[in-house]
Amino acid sequence: MTTTANQNVDEAEIAKFERMASRWWDLNGEFKPLHDINPLRANYIDERAAVAEKKVLDIGCGGGILCEALFQRGANVTGIDMGVAPLEVAKLHGLETGAQVDYQHTTAEAFAQNNANQFDIVTCLEMLEHVPNPASTIDACTALVKPGGDIFFSTINRNPKAYGVAILGAEYLLKLLPKGTHEYGKFIRPSELSRWARESGLVVNNICGITYNVFTKKYKLNPDDIDVNYLIHATKPL
Ligand code: SAH
Repeated sequence: MTTTANQNVDEAEIAKFERMASRWWDLNGEFKPLHDINPLRANYIDERAAVAEKKVLDIGCGGGILCEALFQRGANVTGIDMGVAPLEVAKLHGLETGAQVDYQHTTAEAFAQNNANQFDIVTCLEMLEHVPNPASTIDACTALVKPGGDIFFSTINRNPKAYGVAILGAEYLLKLLPKGTHEYGKFIRPSELSRWARESGLVVNNICGITYNVFTKKYKLNPDDIDVNYLIHATKPL
């Protein structure tokens, strides 16, 4: 792992996303799973935090799949990422669709230095498993959200079933994701994510799984199964 000095960034991880960036909006490409789960997670966020008219920050936004969905629902969206090509793709796509999102090349930690308590909602989806120090990212999210505001994280659980489904299944058998997309050791248990959130001063309100049915090829929100992919909703107390 190579990290940029004093930054919570794994350059090898960023490089992976730079290489795939041109296909970010290809609905049948490497990012198909993100496109497939996007309406589910946008619904989850909107139902729990009513995004219309809210100031939303999406951290690790990539090509802007979630940013655009939240913009469509009336949010005022800023997206940040450390990938240059993913941000270029996001900006170009926004020009095509008319989604007005403010995209910026920065880390959560650096952005938090000048934007503390600025956002009603902070989202950080499918990103924590790609950074060297997830607790530091979580602390930055906490700093960025207003008191009383909402934070959403999603990542992948760490247990034998998650290894089987997210790595062997998704990367090797079903080839939904390129091999090497995920590293098992960087997956995060809900208990760990909840503890980091609490240590950061957040209150965890809800944890909800996202499950995939190999026969119907459909994903669904599943509160009863957080074994593999899951979302967490937390709030920053007033
Ligand atoms: N959140 C998006 C994209 C997930 S892919 C979605 O769910 O649709 C992970 C993204 O995190 C990539 O775009 C990658 O460039 C970005 N990323 C990884 N480490 C980062 C860091 N330390 N700071 C900012 N972005 C980072």
